Amino acid sequence: MKGAIEKRLTNGVAVAIAGVLVIVVFLIWQYRQIQDNGVMIRHTNLVLYQTQEVLNDAVHYELDVRNFLLTGDSTFLDRAGDSIRLLPSKIATLKELTADNPRQQRRIDSVLAFISRNRSILENAMFLSRAGNFEEAAGIISSEATTGYSYRIQHMLNQIALEERGLLGIRRGNNLNKASQLQWIMWSLIAAVAILAFVTFRKIRVDLSREKRAREQLRRFNIELKDEVKRQTANLQASEDKYKTLFYKSPLPKWIYDEETLYFLEVNDTAIRSYGYSREEFLGMTILDIRPEEDRDRLIKDVEDVRNNPGSYRDSQWRHIKRNGDIIDVDVTAYPINFEGHHARMVVVNDITDRRIYEKQLRQLNTDLAKRAAELASSNGELERFAYIASHDLQEPLRMVSSFLQLLQKRYGGQLDNKADQYIHYAVDGAERMKALIMDLLEYSRVGTGKESFGLIDTAIVLKEVGDIFREKIISARARVDIGEMPCVWGDKVQMTQLFQNLLSNALKYHSDQSPVIRIMAKEEPGYWQFSISDNGIGIDPQFFDKIFIIFQRLHNKSDYSGTGIGLAICKKIVERHGGRIWVESTPQNGSTFYFTIIKKS
Ligand code: ADP
Repeated sequence: MKGAIEKRLTNGVAVAIAGVLVIVVFLIWQYRQIQDNGVMIRHTNLVLYQTQEVLNDAVHYELDVRNFLLTGDSTFLDRAGDSIRLLPSKIATLKELTADNPRQQRRIDSVLAFISRNRSILENAMFLSRAGNFEEAAGIISSEATTGYSYRIQHMLNQIALEERGLLGIRRGNNLNKASQLQWIMWSLIAAVAILAFVTFRKIRVDLSREKRAREQLRRFNIELKDEVKRQTANLQASEDKYKTLFYKSPLPKWIYDEETLYFLEVNDTAIRSYGYSREEFLGMTILDIRPEEDRDRLIKDVEDVRNNPGSYRDSQWRHIKRNGDIIDVDVTAYPINFEGHHARMVVVNDITDRRIYEKQLRQLNTDLAKRAAELASSNGELERFAYIASHDLQEPLRMVSSFLQLLQKRYGGQLDNKADQYIHYAVDGAERMKALIMDLLEYSRVGTGKESFGLIDTAIVLKEVGDIFREKIISARARVDIGEMPCVWGDKVQMTQLFQNLLSNALKYHSDQSPVIRIMAKEEPGYWQFSISDNGIGIDPQFFDKIFIIFQRLHNKSDYSGTGIGLAICKKIVERHGGRIWVESTPQNGSTFYFTIIKKS
């Protein structure tokens, strides 16, 4: 800032000096011009004076000659002689003085010519007078020629004087102009210097106040800086205290070791407590000493790696030996720090021995579970195979029992007593129900687990086919079936048809007093499609929500609603085979909504 002011000051002074110098030079030049003009004025005055002299001498000469001719007094003649003697030299001086003016020179030549002619006339008159011929002398003097010459001489000299006076006027005027210009310039110079001084002064004042402000700012900044340093120092102190607390009071074992020597430099109380070594014992050991023999090579390699990558954080798992010889599994986090001038690492240890045991147990449990699941799957498979074989193979003997019972009823009905007829009737009925159950079981066990028959199915088409199957039933029950926009899904077409068929059949079957209103919708969710079939039927008590999906579980007896209780069990099996789940939401007397999901093909 100071430099800038000095520079500005120097510039201001330099400009002022330069301005003054220019003006001074101009002034000198102007002054010279005035001086030159003065010389010319004096010169003009001299010419005027000399002209007047010549005129005087010419006039006196003529007057003295006339007076002599009139009086005959010779003193006039002497004086006339003096005048005419001096006249040539005065005219010569005049000519010399006007040498730069050709017009004046011509006039002077004319004057000289008139004077010499006048002189010769007058001398002739004087000659005649001396010879006593007064009359002729007087005639010459009074003649026009004589008077004409004197007038001409006077006129010429007046012309010369007039021109010189004109020149004098011009030169005086010039000088006056120059003098007033000089005055103006002087004042301008004073004004310019004053303005410059004022501007420079203002600028310097502004700069000084700016400098003052900057200094003030700097002072404030310094104070803030000091405060900040104080704050930072306090923070540092606080964070150091915090760090110490974190280190010494940590519930996890922590230590610091030298990266070069691997010696422990500091340990916290938890490390001492959980490892059993005293602080002194720790500080006398290296980190190698708390490793089982077989882990040391790995540790040395790791240490090398750390040295090659200074500043790196590390998370690794190790085994440590406690003082009592116990070996524990640990998770170790190590990060670089500068500790009392050592390149060191701060280590945080997490004992994961228990976690390892749990992990092992968990792994064991998982293996057991997988084994059980496999066993269960195989036993399920066997069961399904058994159900299939049993239901398949039982059909034949059952058909036989059933047909012979019917034959018995036909042939001997009414021939035995009432009781026998009743028994036969029960037997026929039982055989029929058994047949239906066996058929259902067969159908159920046919829902296999293989996915060979999977493909892309348009559920809208599936529902159209299902609708066709139930057309007559829908018309006779005056039911309304609304179907929303249906997607294409990945699945088994036969099973998907069966799924919708079972659900639609139930929705039509379990209707209330009102005509059935059924809505079938689909909703896209991330990863799967969710379908819903809702009705306005009799509804289901929430306590039976799970039970209805179990095979042969029914909520009504046969006389109220026909059925065997296999439909929803088959639905569940189909949905699960398609990677989804099925559930129901309902309030008794208020209709039910069955939901199921079908996963999208990934
Ligand atoms: P079924 O219809 O042959 O009895 P399901 O497995 O299809 O066998 O149904 C099991 C039971 O669930 C039925 O007995 C019935 O009580 C109940 N249920 C199924 N669908 C509905 C429905 N839409 N409304 C009311 N109850 C229903």
